[in-house]
Amino acid sequence: MRRLSPETPLFEALGAKSPYVRRLEHLGLATVGDLLRHFPARYEDFSKIYKIAELEPGQAATIQAAVEDVRVRRTRRGMTIVEATLADEDGTIRAVWFNQPYVATTLRPGRVANFAGKISVSDENELYLNHPAYEIVRPDVQDRNIETRHTARLVPIYPETRGLTSRGIRFVMQSIMRRAQPSKEWLPEETLAALGLPEVNRALRAVHFPLSMEHAAAARRRFDFESIFLLHLWNLQQKLRLADAKASSIAADIGKIRRILAELPFDLTQSQKRSLWEVVQDMEKPRPMNRLLQGDVGSGKTIVAAIAAIIAAENERQTAFMAPTEILARQHFQTMAGLLHRIAAQAKPVIGLLTAGEALVFYEDGMETKVTKDEFRKRSAKGGIAIIFGTHALIQKNVSFKDLALVVIDEQHRFGVRQRQALASIATGGRTPHLLSMSATPIPRTLMFTVFGDLNLSLITELPAGRKAIETKIVLPLERQATYELIRREIGSGRQAFVICPRIEKSDEPDMKDGGAQKNWDVRSVVEEYEKLSKRIFPDLRVAMLHGQMKAKEKEDIMRRFRDGKIDLLVSTSVVEVGVDIPNATIMMIEGTDRFGLAQLYQFRGRVGRGEHQSYCFLFTDSTAEPTQARLKAILTAKNGFELAEEDLKLRGPGQFFGDIQTGFPDAAMTALQDAELVRSSREAAVAVLAKDPSLQTHPALKKKFEEFKKTIHRE
Ligand code: ADP
Ligand code: MG
Repeated sequence: MRRLSPETPLFEALGAKSPYVRRLEHLGLATVGDLLRHFPARYEDFSKIYKIAELEPGQAATIQAAVEDVRVRRTRRGMTIVEATLADEDGTIRAVWFNQPYVATTLRPGRVANFAGKISVSDENELYLNHPAYEIVRPDVQDRNIETRHTARLVPIYPETRGLTSRGIRFVMQSIMRRAQPSKEWLPEETLAALGLPEVNRALRAVHFPLSMEHAAAARRRFDFESIFLLHLWNLQQKLRLADAKASSIAADIGKIRRILAELPFDLTQSQKRSLWEVVQDMEKPRPMNRLLQGDVGSGKTIVAAIAAIIAAENERQTAFMAPTEILARQHFQTMAGLLHRIAAQAKPVIGLLTAGEALVFYEDGMETKVTKDEFRKRSAKGGIAIIFGTHALIQKNVSFKDLALVVIDEQHRFGVRQRQALASIATGGRTPHLLSMSATPIPRTLMFTVFGDLNLSLITELPAGRKAIETKIVLPLERQATYELIRREIGSGRQAFVICPRIEKSDEPDMKDGGAQKNWDVRSVVEEYEKLSKRIFPDLRVAMLHGQMKAKEKEDIMRRFRDGKIDLLVSTSVVEVGVDIPNATIMMIEGTDRFGLAQLYQFRGRVGRGEHQSYCFLFTDSTAEPTQARLKAILTAKNGFELAEEDLKLRGPGQFFGDIQTGFPDAAMTALQDAELVRSSREAAVAVLAKDPSLQTHPALKKKFEEFKKTIHRE
């Protein structure tokens, strides 16, 4: 038999007709290698075989029992229910399966099988097995070597997809593992030895079919190590490469900055001033700045970046000012135009906005002019536009600069050396631009300094004076009606509202987060809520919806209408999380609050409370369970987003914490970062390897792996 290589496509390994192939594809698994790296989300311990008489409600257990009888019923709604009575020496129990008619054909009376599942209690107060996994025990069961997959062992629970349960995945996994050729070890031997990590093939077996939890944990540690180790290698290598990058030294005229500040309609907060000062000092250095400006939503980051750009312009140097969406790019462009209008006494830099649409706009001495894109590019290349606003794609859009000295990236969520590398490639005159990224997403410091090692941080820790606190409330189902009434009153007096839902459409797919343990059909969706709110609850109001599957054009259109006050209530997914500034929106209502991370909820709330009116945030939850309530209460009491981020990190780990944030690094790496000890020891290991052999010549397998890893890091 030819052994399967990691590159073998699953359709070849399983046969093109196998129903598993397409379902595995839904999980993003196309090759044998992909499958082997589809790790369990957790394990259930079914290793002990219980007697029926010992079973207790709520327990997850394996029993070995004979099938006494099997019945198949259909409900009026067309569901099939298979019910079996199972017996061992001294007890009987009922088992139930929904919509799995084939169970009745395998479990014929007289057969002996292992059954593993949760012991539930029926309305009649009787114990039964709900949807147990089962494996027929063959008569030759004396043969102790028979491997079980689903019962009588530690059972892996995988991230699942529609039509493919952990049971199915275990089945495929076992068959593929038997036929796959051994994986190549690519970690240096001394590294494995130093950290006491298992060799790759041992680790693979142990992660999928562990003999004990310790066994599984050691394997997991190895795989976690892999990704952090590569991350460190990459970081270290980039650092070496960028160590001698040069940048324009931009001198700031303090007097001028004072005059600009004096002309603002408000005083900068203490931390805005401090941040601006840190930026100014960085820009004076002949080495590229790499600074992240972090501050809660509404804390006023834009003005700090705007002044930095004006300082660059005063020095006849250019700035690229980038935002994640065209709406935001335009918002910043207009803010800058307004700012320049105010500081009438100063020389006025020319600013431009370049978007995907035809609309190209100049701003010069208070005049807005449309030009062609070509004309725009030509002027930029000659240095005729000092500050150019656009989306994050701006610097790739064939825009050339005469002397690009500062790049501002708003709400980027991609930090660190990777950006610097991208920027180094657009260096003008051999000089790399200074980089200022801005984000409201707080990254816990612990992560910050381990992963994003050489990034400097400026923090805006206070909100501008005079902001009204947002009234925040955890809302249980009974209070829903009253909340709708409040929304109606607010909208009646001219305000606007957001309703955020965890998903786009209703789905009965199992919840991926928990390997299918939790069903999703009760999770509220944008489409359903939109239907309900627009037709039944608020038929007289202007309700719209917004989600990531809509076309960019549609989304922008909806946002524009919302901004212009032509929509009263916007039902949306988390796409509104970032950046939008709509002062007239005063209500943020969040459905399925338990589905979001604390930091994310905090961001949502920051969408309101931006204007003069009192704002409200309603966190809807169906769960009165103490952990959920405690978690949500953290939002009511947290002084700032950073506190919440740390809390989130503790409660959910970085994988969850990062959620939508694209660091550009593979998810596995982000999840692995949970383990601070591992982060430290893997860095030491990476330093040790690079110190001996910076180009990895003596580690060809590692070198190859590293090259592949680099390809998985998104380029800007
Ligand atoms: P974010 O940090 O979320 O990007 P913005 O830069 O959009 O926040 O600022 C939010 C609002 O606060 C803007 O309308 C801005 O003009 C205003 N603002 C910024 N700084 C101050 C300040 N020191 N005092 C009062 N208002 C301020
Ligand atoms: Mg902003």
